[in-house]
Amino acid sequence: MENANVLERLIVASNNKNKLREFDAILGHLYQIVSMRDAGVDADIEEDGVTFEDNALIKAQYVMDQTGCAAIADDSGLEVDALGGAPGVYSARYCGRHGDDEANNDLLLENLKDVPAPRTGRYVAAIALVRPGKEPIVRRGTCDGEILFARRGQGGFGYDPLFQCETGETFAEVSMETKNAISHRKRGIVAVLNALSEEQA
Ligand code: IMP
Repeated sequence: MENANVLERLIVASNNKNKLREFDAILGHLYQIVSMRDAGVDADIEEDGVTFEDNALIKAQYVMDQTGCAAIADDSGLEVDALGGAPGVYSARYCGRHGDDEANNDLLLENLKDVPAPRTGRYVAAIALVRPGKEPIVRRGTCDGEILFARRGQGGFGYDPLFQCETGETFAEVSMETKNAISHRKRGIVAVLNALSEEQA
């Protein structure tokens, strides 16, 4: 990274290596991507917004307030049409406990048990970029799919074994390359990159 010294730092409001890699792949030519930990921010930021966009902005703004540097954050989840958009912003804690993927998937199947196929929905990711003295940029990426009647595949996390994407496979069956190419997060980050390019044009 011979440019690293001259690029402005962009703190990602996460320590997740996969997310950091994704942000770096798309924005690394514009910014030096730094994890929250490496920026010295150690916090469990409360996500109490009612939309994905609110929560992404809350996280990015918190990190910028702590560091004085530009920051970027994502907030994501699954929206199911037959459930009026649930679990939505509550995706990680749908069953009442944060991050219990098995229980979240069981509850989703239970709540959809009387709903015939196709049980349409989408993964959503809101990406918020905040920079000192500039307007925030917030963009959304989505990935459409269907909720299956039983889990399929061993990979992924969260609702991936129940989420059949546009290739006909579940997100727990696709390769990492495929998921990263079509994911809601990827699409949201690319939308932020496009907004940055328009700003500079
Ligand atoms: P977070 O925005 O990374 O905190 O994700 C919120 C929750 O949404 C996760 O805990 C998962 O339940 C769900 N989720 C978001 N993106 C994905 C994905 O790509 N696969 C599976 N579940 C996801």
